[in-house]
Amino acid sequence: MKIAAQQPAASPAEPQPGDIPVEVFRQAMHRVADMIADYLSNVAEYPVVPRISPGDVRRALPPSGPAAAEPLDAILDDYQRLIEPNTTHWNHPGFMAYFANTGSAPGIMGEALAAALNVNAMLWRTGPAPTELEGLTCDWLRQWMGLPAEFKGHINDTASIGSLLALGAARARLRDLQIRQKGMAGRPELPALRVYASEHAHSSIDKACLTLGVGLENLRKIPADQAYRMDPAALAAAIAEDKAAGRRPMAVVATVGTTSTTSVDPVPAIAELCRREQVWLHVDAAYAGVAAICPELRAQMPGLEQADSLVTNPHKWLFVPVDCSVLFVRDEHALKEAFSLVPEYLRTSESRVTNLMDLGVQLGRRFRALKMWMVFRAFGLEGLQARIRGHCGLAREFAAWVEAEPGFELCAPIPFSTVCFRATPPMPPAAQNDFNERLLAAANSDGSFFLSHTKLGERLVLRLCVGNLRTSRELLRTAWRVLREKCAELRG
Ligand code: PLP
Repeated sequence: MKIAAQQPAASPAEPQPGDIPVEVFRQAMHRVADMIADYLSNVAEYPVVPRISPGDVRRALPPSGPAAAEPLDAILDDYQRLIEPNTTHWNHPGFMAYFANTGSAPGIMGEALAAALNVNAMLWRTGPAPTELEGLTCDWLRQWMGLPAEFKGHINDTASIGSLLALGAARARLRDLQIRQKGMAGRPELPALRVYASEHAHSSIDKACLTLGVGLENLRKIPADQAYRMDPAALAAAIAEDKAAGRRPMAVVATVGTTSTTSVDPVPAIAELCRREQVWLHVDAAYAGVAAICPELRAQMPGLEQADSLVTNPHKWLFVPVDCSVLFVRDEHALKEAFSLVPEYLRTSESRVTNLMDLGVQLGRRFRALKMWMVFRAFGLEGLQARIRGHCGLAREFAAWVEAEPGFELCAPIPFSTVCFRATPPMPPAAQNDFNERLLAAANSDGSFFLSHTKLGERLVLRLCVGNLRTSRELLRTAWRVLREKCAELRG
């Protein structure tokens, strides 16, 4: 067959425009290195959250892209003028909201070098070193966390995706239902598939259920005890009730380090039940899991080794820049059973290699293991442990100040580095919630720190999480002083 040319032929004499000349790039990158180092030195001079309104950034930028090339220096100038000051600074020592994290120096190096390689490690062949480094660094983490040798890890962008994949594997394990082949729609013979998680599980589990066609109604939220941990007896009753009604238990998600209070579900009891019922156990340890590298913290999360899958985020509390989430599975074949599909154009001859595309939905994947490798090597296990322990110590100190202060209370146990607390002015519960909301806004307006909130039952509580490598005791003292001052002002 003759194929007609679709485009006019380019003249062979015309030079190709190509990339920016390498010497220009080199100079710009020297400036970028200085900019990054200056940013890390001076980030505390910014308010953690920029004092801008929605639309301000966009209005300061041209509405259409440039037709002509612009010099790199001009672009970097604009970055410094318009972008850097107008973001929320997660790398700020005062960032203590949500789960505070750090893009550490070795991690930043890894990000830059990964961009230079621009490797797409979809297959071993398209990224041998990235594929093998991913397997290796995940295995280092596995060993440090005390997980069994059969656990195989790989890296995704987020825990949300890790949990989605784990639940996809759990669904594929219900082989008799042939969902991979036949789907779920238009099949009245299919039982409702049920997923169980505590009422404090992260919303990513709800999203996984809606994405996988399980449906939000089939995610059973199991009540928790006074310390916000899933009640295994209630879980057992829910599974029994569902089976009696002809529904099919698909997976249980235990949370180790819940989003609101960092509570730890009783994994050993849940695992025992899952074994008995032959139900997949996924552990969502997005924040706290990495702390298992400290044996005394691992002791606070027993049973991790009994999971079928476990997700944890080095980008949350192991100083690897966003994004980097590790999914461990006991039987990697389960993931392949769910997701592996090899079209002809991706077939390669190597046998007995990992092709990362087989482990999930996406084909392409970037080289995230490089930054993790650099962080692990630059800090070492002992350095990582010391930093995590330091954060837990700071959180405990802060908690002790709260506990000793009349008019404030701690609202949950503190197993790791996150403190839930609130002011308790003498007023009805709804007014107290309103008071704490105003207190949070007033304290955050100081700009030197940033806290977030959550709701525990009917109580609105404030959350302080230590996870940034630059957070100091002095800064916590400032936050505590500002909180008390604002509280006094609001009480009049
Ligand atoms: N699971 C838990 C327990 C979390 O706390 C979070 C986020 O804070 C997530 C999952 C979602 O993490 P990611 O942003 O990596 O999807």
